[in-house]
Amino acid sequence: MTTPLPQSARTPQPPPANVALGCKICAGRPAIRLHTVSVGAPAALPRADQAAAEHGGGAHVHQSLPDDLYVVVRADDRADDEAGQP
Ligand SMILES: [Zn+2]
Repeated sequence: MTTPLPQSARTPQPPPANVALGCKICAGRPAIRLHTVSVGAPAALPRADQAAAEHGGGAHVHQSLPDDLYVVVRADDRADDEAGQP
C-alpha cells in the first residue's frame, strides 16, 4: 500500500495575496493590513503616508490595484523567525 503525495507537494503555490513581491521593505514577507485609503479619495496618498507614519514600526504604503486602495501595511516579522535570522 502506498500513500499518495498531497497534490500541494508537487504543485507550486502562488504567493499569498498579502505578499507584495516587488516591495523591498517587505522583502517577501507577508504584510499585515493596518489601514486602507481609497485611491479615489482626496489626497489619498498623503493620507496613507500620514497613516503609515502614525503607525510607525516600519509601516508603509502599498497600492492594491484590484481593490483600488492604498494599503498601509507592516511586514509580518513573525515570518522572519521561521526563516532563521542570524
Ligand atoms: Zn511592503
